[in-house]
Amino acid sequence: MFKGKVVIVGASNVGSAVLTKLLDFQLASEIALIDLNENKCKGEALDANDATSCIHSLNIRTYHGDYSDCKDADLIIITAGPSIKPGEKADRLILSKTNCKIMSSVMSEITKYTKDALILMITNPLDVATYHVSTQFDYPREKIIGTGTMLETFRLRRIIADRYHIDPKNIHGYVLGEHGNSAFTAWSTVNVAGLGLEHVDEYFHFNDKLDKKAIEQALVNRAYDIINLKGYTNTGIAMVAARFTKSFMYNEHTILPMSAVLEGEYGLSDVALSIPRMICADGIVRSFAPHLPKEELDLLYASAESVKKAIASAKE
Ligand code: NAD
Repeated sequence: MFKGKVVIVGASNVGSAVLTKLLDFQLASEIALIDLNENKCKGEALDANDATSCIHSLNIRTYHGDYSDCKDADLIIITAGPSIKPGEKADRLILSKTNCKIMSSVMSEITKYTKDALILMITNPLDVATYHVSTQFDYPREKIIGTGTMLETFRLRRIIADRYHIDPKNIHGYVLGEHGNSAFTAWSTVNVAGLGLEHVDEYFHFNDKLDKKAIEQALVNRAYDIINLKGYTNTGIAMVAARFTKSFMYNEHTILPMSAVLEGEYGLSDVALSIPRMICADGIVRSFAPHLPKEELDLLYASAESVKKAIASAKE
């Protein structure tokens, strides 16, 4: 029998969407929701419970919980803390100070009950928050993982797939670095169903060339475009969380671009960034530092610098 307990901290736009995806994809046997806003949290849990009566749903126990629910949790997903709002400066790093404070209050509760659960970080600025949680509390570092540039990588796939009118799952490769403005496309890793990028326009009979600069800009702007249109983002990130949870719950050994504190990869440490990482039931089992050409390495180092500055500013 499948058994997996998940605690979701933060039950607003992102937390409630993550809850829905986990229920729809049957990725837990029990889900507890926690939020400072008790009414919102209770409401989300009740609403989700109604859905479990449908013939297509499993009877997954879903309830408004508290931090003691972390005691026997397999996975804790942290989505607490505000997002960038429509019209605000388009840079997640402005949330550093506020959300590191919130992470401190959340972690001081979680650590009273467990050091065993895997923690999936979603709160922004993702890499700053992941670094803060990994370094400021006596929690096993290998159990803390941020969704990172999985979302940008999903966006890259969609944008390229739209150009060639193909399934985005045929696009392989990574966006790496910060989940944010300094994320960069590692074009050297990208291919279309095994077809090398340098000839892909020829294969698809396109006369114009793939515009890499425009794609890079579009995928960094995508979150702010969505926020300005609907007020927040939640569906894409909820699917990212579900994809990760599936790899974790089913011990899949999937390689995904995710954030964690670097341990000397590319000569970097003291910063969290996304690189390809193998995910299984123990969390990250292996991280990869693919060979990158100089121009991509420069972008990686610039990304690290930008996150390091935000980490330092959050401490001031
Ligand atoms: P929101 O402002 O609507 O909700 C935040 C929730 O956190 C609120 O319900 C609030 O009550 C709760 N909260 C605040 N402090 C808390 C605490 N100490 N303990 C428990 N709950 C607390 O934000 P949202 O739109 O749901 O987004 C949540 C976070 O997810 C933001 O930081 C956003 O930027 C981030 N996000 C990340 C990604 C990603 O790719 N990693 C994508 C989308 C959104």
